[in-house]
Amino acid sequence: MKIFGITGWKNSGKTGLMERLVAHFAAKGLRVSTLKHTHHSVDLERPGTDTHRHREAGAQEVVLASSARVSILHELRETDEPRLTDLIARLTPCDLVLVEGFKSAPHPKIEAHRASAGEALLAPKNHTIRAVASDTPLPALGLPVFDLDDTDAIAAFIEVATGMTPRSAPKLANDCFALPPGVNWTPVDEALETLESRLSPITGTEMIPVADARDRILASDHMAARANPPGANAAVDGYGFAYAGLPDGDNIKVPLVDGRAAAGTPFSGTVPMGHAIRILTGALLPDGVDTVVMQEDVQVDGSIISFPAGVKPGANARAAGEDVAAGKLALPAGHKMRAPDVALLSALGIADAEVHARLRVGVLSTGDELAEPGTTLDVARTYDANRPMLLSLAENWGYLPVDLGHVADDRDKLRQAFDDAATKADVILTSGGASAGDEDHVSALLEQTGSLHHWRIAIKPGRPLALAQWNGTPVFGLPGNPVAALITTLIFARPAFSKLAGGPWLTPQAFDLPAAFSKSKKAGRREYLRARLNKDGHAEVFKSEGSGRISGLSWATGLVELPDEALKITPGTPVRFLPYTGFGLT
Ligand code: AMP
Ligand code: MG
Repeated sequence: MKIFGITGWKNSGKTGLMERLVAHFAAKGLRVSTLKHTHHSVDLERPGTDTHRHREAGAQEVVLASSARVSILHELRETDEPRLTDLIARLTPCDLVLVEGFKSAPHPKIEAHRASAGEALLAPKNHTIRAVASDTPLPALGLPVFDLDDTDAIAAFIEVATGMTPRSAPKLANDCFALPPGVNWTPVDEALETLESRLSPITGTEMIPVADARDRILASDHMAARANPPGANAAVDGYGFAYAGLPDGDNIKVPLVDGRAAAGTPFSGTVPMGHAIRILTGALLPDGVDTVVMQEDVQVDGSIISFPAGVKPGANARAAGEDVAAGKLALPAGHKMRAPDVALLSALGIADAEVHARLRVGVLSTGDELAEPGTTLDVARTYDANRPMLLSLAENWGYLPVDLGHVADDRDKLRQAFDDAATKADVILTSGGASAGDEDHVSALLEQTGSLHHWRIAIKPGRPLALAQWNGTPVFGLPGNPVAALITTLIFARPAFSKLAGGPWLTPQAFDLPAAFSKSKKAGRREYLRARLNKDGHAEVFKSEGSGRISGLSWATGLVELPDEALKITPGTPVRFLPYTGFGLT
């Protein structure tokens, strides 16, 4: 369910706007529900009615039903304020929930504003406010400002902000894969720079719960909804006091006040100067406390504590906002969410994240010789290894793998497969048939689009990469050989896909290690060897460089990257090791 809010002061016109938006979306055939927060304690029914009597008698929930509508009354006995997420969980699934009020809940909202009402704007102090709807033009706010009566424009904004309509992403330029003319073999770095400068995000955006956001790429800057920590608190279990009130001497003695401060159960009184209070980790510092001494350093004698002099002012106390101040950037647009980032946004009160839609990576295998693994004993057939490998890589990278199957070397079937692929995927990854030979049908077909560029890259292993667009969808035509297919995918497709998905350009993690092998490398091509660390932590390489040796890919835990220049390597020569994990390959 998409959730969007309208907030604003009293008489700001928010209910009128809600009404018009509900009517607007309902007229479009959407199922819209609303949620409204109110500050005054409304009585939802008159005393003396049957249901009122049921509730008064102690029923937890009372359902009042007629043939026209059903009302569920739920008594909040111990809880003081209902939480928006709990309320939403009670709703029947629908297309859009419009929320009126709940201005400190973390869902995105528009602030309704009537200058005549004379109230100050909540935005941009409240970062969850994404736009303002005002009855008078406003000075620049850094937020979109709509005319309060322009329901169509406000509705269109809500559709984009909630991901009901993905934010339209510009298509790639038609010639985005053109290489500078005159170059015969393109060095790897130049090929990478070309891709980096030509590619841009092609995915729309949506709002999703932060708890579900691992592997997703943030589509906007996310600001702290409140500070971390929200209030000054104790970093250890111990005793708290005002530093300025400590007596002099080597062994300090201080009387304890009654009560204690614990996490979630603050001490509401003030600790007088010269007194201390029992305090536990995470407890808010009570008034009159700025310093905490660890319990391990303290002797307790009835209601007197003593500890050696030397405690520093402010020791073991965490200041409010010392980690992140409210309103400060928590994570920037383009950041890919990992488990620690889920923790950060959650700690800062951000429950929903605006993320890019997952990049749909379509994977197609081509070749007459291919068969599904295990389906034939015919030695003339090759089991399709690339498709499962590339689909699993796409998933590894947090994208949506789309299995486009296998197509024989048949131009018409291939054309159909590309037509189908362009509707199901944002980017198409093919393997096989990408060179310029008689049986290279992928190349031949892409040639007809006029957008094909054969990238003859100075890389080993690897044959030309065929880059093109099919009905506007970028196509990466990889060599069929699984070793070359994997290496070209890791080196070229990985950073390219990240950019297409709204993330940063990626450079693989690399570090220098002593070689555990010997090799004379000629100048001209960058080489990638299947490698792993031996027991001494040196880089050993697979026994064969044969490009058909798929087992070496599996034997390895990374690649050794040898520079374009000539190089003589003997055991101990430093070489660059690129671990598989640095390619997001796990
Ligand atoms: P190609 O690029 O089509 O000339 O293929 C080069 C080599 O890779 C040939 O030996 C193919 O049989 C092999 N090959 C192509 N596609 C795959 C695949 N999906 N799985 C395993 N091997 C493949
Ligand atoms: Mg082939």
